[in-house]
Amino acid sequence: MTDGKLAVIGLGSIGSMALWQASRLSDSVVGFEAATPAHGRSAVGGDTRLFRMIYRGNPDFYPILQRSQRLWAELEAETGQDILTRCGGLSIGTANGPYINAVLETTKATGAEHQLLSHQELAERYPQHNLRPDDVAVYDPNAGALRTDRAVTAAVAAAEANGATVHRNTPVDSITETNDGVIVTAGGKSWTFENVIVASGGWSRRLMPDYLENATETKRIFLSWFVANDASQFTPEKFPIFIRIYEDRSMYGAPAVDGVTVKATLDGRGKPTPDPDAVPRDLTAAEIEETTDTVSEFFPGLIPNIVRTDAFPDLYTKDSQPLLGPISDGSRIYCATGFSGAGFKNATGFGYIAAREALGKQTFDGLGFIRPERFKTS
Ligand SMILES: Cc1cc2nc3c(=O)[nH]c(=O)nc-3n(C[C@H](O)[C@H](O)[C@H](O)COP(=O)(O)OP(=O)(O)OC[C@H]3O[C@@H](n4cnc5c(N)ncnc54)[C@H](O)[C@@H]3O)c2cc1C
Repeated sequence: MTDGKLAVIGLGSIGSMALWQASRLSDSVVGFEAATPAHGRSAVGGDTRLFRMIYRGNPDFYPILQRSQRLWAELEAETGQDILTRCGGLSIGTANGPYINAVLETTKATGAEHQLLSHQELAERYPQHNLRPDDVAVYDPNAGALRTDRAVTAAVAAAEANGATVHRNTPVDSITETNDGVIVTAGGKSWTFENVIVASGGWSRRLMPDYLENATETKRIFLSWFVANDASQFTPEKFPIFIRIYEDRSMYGAPAVDGVTVKATLDGRGKPTPDPDAVPRDLTAAEIEETTDTVSEFFPGLIPNIVRTDAFPDLYTKDSQPLLGPISDGSRIYCATGFSGAGFKNATGFGYIAAREALGKQTFDGLGFIRPERFKTS
């Protein structure tokens, strides 16, 4: 006898979605969360995450993105919550430069709906952006801003409504695989489950085998927000999410979903942070200076004083691809972590894959690039 078919450890961005998906398949699923789902020190923090179907990189992610897009809509329908603000998205860079070429190459391979905007079209439609002379953009009509805390709390509520059990404020101390199942211990108590998903984000290394501990690193990512001279120009109706990448500068951000603050943050600045419980929240002087300089160049309508900052942990892998799959062939312990600063847009899709596979069901073909075993050396 076990205490359940499946336990999900960590009910943050991906664990909450895995619990929701598992609760649709089984009435015997249990979630463990060290604090509360969507707590402010997890990678859920910071109000919003960019969702986009246009990106540069591996086209094999596209079927997962399509599934994620459908599941975000299902989560909204099932819970009545407004989770994805569908405001479109802009990838901005130099015409024929490496960034725009890479975005177009991936888009060609995926067939994602898009529009190439000339410099003039971009300037006319989005005057909030101060453009460089050779700038063009790829417009993504399906992009938007995900409301992170609403998404995670909605998924956990939906899972509980389906019969899942949730242990809040219950940090798991250890997981041990035996012939009969996986023993989970927390605060002196223990449970046995047929299968376990480890979805504990920046904290996952504490529960992972050595070969995955060696292939991962927890990093700090910071965010910054600004206010506008004219807030009406930066609403979701007028100002899509954006990414601007050049050789010397890069920034991404989101419209003022709260009606006041515009997210505008340096891109790709994950820095190793040994302790996920002690991520430095303040920006360094250099981070403040580069952020302010970039905003001054890109957005003349934003007042170049940072009004809010914060920083959160995420688990990065050596190849910046996620870890989704059993920790070894046939293992009952399934990893759903290592999202390397890019996991939220696909949280529903990754939760779908983790829940189904941990319960012995099929998902997508061609997922070798995210399987944990790629890091095994022998
Ligand atoms: C600042 C920032 C900006 C980002 N921007 C984007 C973006 O625009 N678009 C995008 O797609 N992605 C983005 N990402 C990446 C994305 O947010 C992360 O990849 C994703 O949120 C990671 O989710 P997770 O479930 O692995 O971790 P988390 O959401 O941190 O969840 C882990 C949970 O596990 C719990 N936990 C830890 N240890 C235990 C334990 N022992 N027992 C029980 N529970 C435990 C924690 O308390 C936490 O709630 C960004 C990330 C950051 C930090």
